[in-house]
Amino acid sequence: MKVPLLDLQAQLAYLGEDLIAAVTRVVKSTRYIQGPEVDGLEREIAEYCGTKHAVGVTSGTDALLICLMSLGIGPGDKVVTSPFSFFATMGVILRVGATPVFADIEPESFNIDVAKTAELLEADKEKKIKAIIPVHLYGQCAEMSGLLDLAKKFELAVIEDAAQAIGSEYPMIIDGKTHFRRAGSMGTAGCFSFFPSKNLGGIGDGGMVVTNDSEFAEKLVLMRNHGAHPKYYHKLVGGNFRLDPIQAAALRVKLPHLERWHRQRGENAARYNHLLGETDLLDKGKVRTPPSVYSQTTGSEGKGRNLHIYNQYVLRVERRNELRDWLLQNDIGCEIYYPVPLHRQECLGALADQFSCPIAEKAANETLALPIYPELTGEMQEYVVKKLVQFYN
Ligand SMILES: *Cc1c(COP(=O)(O)O)cnc(C)c1O
Repeated sequence: MKVPLLDLQAQLAYLGEDLIAAVTRVVKSTRYIQGPEVDGLEREIAEYCGTKHAVGVTSGTDALLICLMSLGIGPGDKVVTSPFSFFATMGVILRVGATPVFADIEPESFNIDVAKTAELLEADKEKKIKAIIPVHLYGQCAEMSGLLDLAKKFELAVIEDAAQAIGSEYPMIIDGKTHFRRAGSMGTAGCFSFFPSKNLGGIGDGGMVVTNDSEFAEKLVLMRNHGAHPKYYHKLVGGNFRLDPIQAAALRVKLPHLERWHRQRGENAARYNHLLGETDLLDKGKVRTPPSVYSQTTGSEGKGRNLHIYNQYVLRVERRNELRDWLLQNDIGCEIYYPVPLHRQECLGALADQFSCPIAEKAANETLALPIYPELTGEMQEYVVKKLVQFYN
């Protein structure tokens, strides 16, 4: 049996015609820059996330970059982030000339540790740290309450890297009551990627910034179009960060399916957990399933909520590299997200020696993502688990 890590053909089987119709609509309209498809998607994403504004951009990377540019973060400034993420999270900090500072992750959630973030902020006597970029890794929100408290105390911007977490809900406790807030809607701004492998993926590159801050949204709109207003009068130095209307039209076809896809991914995760629970791999410590940390803390209130949207289903395993090779030999797609933590990337040069993030380093050696896409079948999952058992026995 062949089990790909992601199968976009399976999605195309029921969405293909609608996608082609959407692309055709844009082609025939001749509205190839901005226009009604981009405006429409922005309205729909803002509504979906529960934010006042959404600003379409070229990619998830550019969503992060345009936020830092619009905050005026640059040389001499520092930004705290997680060492365990896709490169873009750190890349944008370096590209604006600022310096990344890493707070290690929590071992359970793989997300930035609030206590360690606090330590870094306390130690920053010169007040060089201007922002925090928490990453909602694999589809589960970082501990936003603690981070927002710190941001308030130290007067920092919070840019959520929600590239893997659109629609993921965080249980925010306000006056003793739980309010479920969607990823991206809690910080100064939230950034999404529409890279095809995300839960909401385009037919190419695309991204979005959401925010409740109307002034910031206005600035983003200027910045994505070379800072011009009106045309040819440049108030600011921005760039060309405009979302392609063909992508917007395709994403509007997909958005109505997103909640079902989240649910199917959640069901697939539960099935893996169940199937693995029937083996001796968990008891023997060969494999650890990914915890949904907020479903443990919210109990019945969290039922039916997107506490984890499983953009990735990531195990911690023994003999990780050998297992990856074994699965690939058996036609099972799998991937390591991510083999080298950000603070160990070669491009950092001497800066790399300043940081100690042992939990991220351990995660980089132990994690392996299995296929979890919505159309994955129970039979395929049984095959995956059978091959895991064969490997360890
Ligand atoms: C995908 C991703 C990005 C970058 O998004 P692109 O659209 O590929 O530029 C940034 N951060 C994280 C955590 C991601 O997973």
